[in-house]
Amino acid sequence: MTTDRYQRWRRIVRIIEAVLILGIPFLRIKGESALRFDIPSLKLHFFGFSLWMDEFFVVLAGTMFLVFLFILITLLFGRIWCGWVCPQTVLNEMTSFIDKKKKGPANTFLSMLLVLILSVLVAANLIWYFVSPCAFLQDLFLWELGTITWGFWISLTAIMFLNFSFIRYAFCATVCPYAKLQGAFYDNKTLTIAMDPIRKNECIECLACVKSCPVNIDIRDGSNSACINCAKCVGACTEIMSNRNKTSLIDYFFGLSGGDMKIFRVNAVLIGMATLAFLVFTLFQFYHRASIDMTVLPNNAYHPRVNERGDIVNSFILSVKNRGKDDHDIIIRTDHDDKDIRVVPDTVISIKAGEAQKLPVYVTVKPEIHAQGKKGLSILVINRYTGKILIKKTATILDPEG
Ligand code: SF4
Ligand code: SF4
Repeated sequence: MTTDRYQRWRRIVRIIEAVLILGIPFLRIKGESALRFDIPSLKLHFFGFSLWMDEFFVVLAGTMFLVFLFILITLLFGRIWCGWVCPQTVLNEMTSFIDKKKKGPANTFLSMLLVLILSVLVAANLIWYFVSPCAFLQDLFLWELGTITWGFWISLTAIMFLNFSFIRYAFCATVCPYAKLQGAFYDNKTLTIAMDPIRKNECIECLACVKSCPVNIDIRDGSNSACINCAKCVGACTEIMSNRNKTSLIDYFFGLSGGDMKIFRVNAVLIGMATLAFLVFTLFQFYHRASIDMTVLPNNAYHPRVNERGDIVNSFILSVKNRGKDDHDIIIRTDHDDKDIRVVPDTVISIKAGEAQKLPVYVTVKPEIHAQGKKGLSILVINRYTGKILIKKTATILDPEG
């Protein structure tokens, strides 16, 4: 058990994160996974809410919020994500037994086998964010996983295995785009790991910090874009210096030359405001989505005509989708007096949660109303019990043919 305070906290964060990432697909809220983009139905399940593919403007707004949040966190706390939360770092640490420079079964068959088992699990866990884990495990048990799922599982496992066996921390220094971008967001108050410049001459050149570094850099030379802020060098120097009743020469500092935390600075406040604005915009979009969506299409099988009573009849196909989590009993109306313009059928239609129906409707217009030249007409979907208008769309009444 390590006595290093940062490593102790990092271990706790790692365990919490692993439990959350593994467990969230199994957590069910209102009968669905807490978080999953369901491939078969093209729906995003998000903690009890469901977003259809055509509502992804909400996801876009949410993505903008996350981008600004990441910029803000990077400006304030540097590579805190990399060192503490990034799944690449977390999994690298979980497979640290494979590092050659450590004692133990490095590069033995057993260590490779352990990495392979972890890769299989991580790959399956990733798939569970797209395919229901219960359905996945049931199909696996019955040996009925489809070829596409097998293909993804095997490919992801191979990528994970290569990553955790050979690439490891080199991913952070070479491939990761976030690592490359982060330097652009720093300022002279960003939290970073560095050697205390005032105490530099107290260094006894033991190189414990260098030996402990998983990315093989010497932080005493100054900040380095390969540093993932894992704080292992801090623990190493703490141990060496404690023998001399001194504190570590390396630590977290706000600003490269040391300094106090200052959150309220101009750039942080501006980025914070942009982050907040995108959060409000995302929540507004999210809570103002219509639970019922409707598209009005012309019914090409029924051309506009005059019926036996002399009324003009147009037909439309209403494509009605219940995006909500509740079933609805609806009626279709127009915004006109029923004596002038009627919709047939005028019966109650039941539409289940998540269900889409195509409803052919016939709109009958009195000739005197049609003669007034009013062509645009609002078609309303109304809740049968509350009378609330759930959605309203415009249809155009065409002249009868012939
Ligand atoms: S320099 Fe220190 S904080 Fe940076 S990666 Fe190496 S050990 Fe981790
Ligand atoms: S661990 Fe501390 S004392 Fe040893 S080389 Fe690194 S900075 Fe110097």
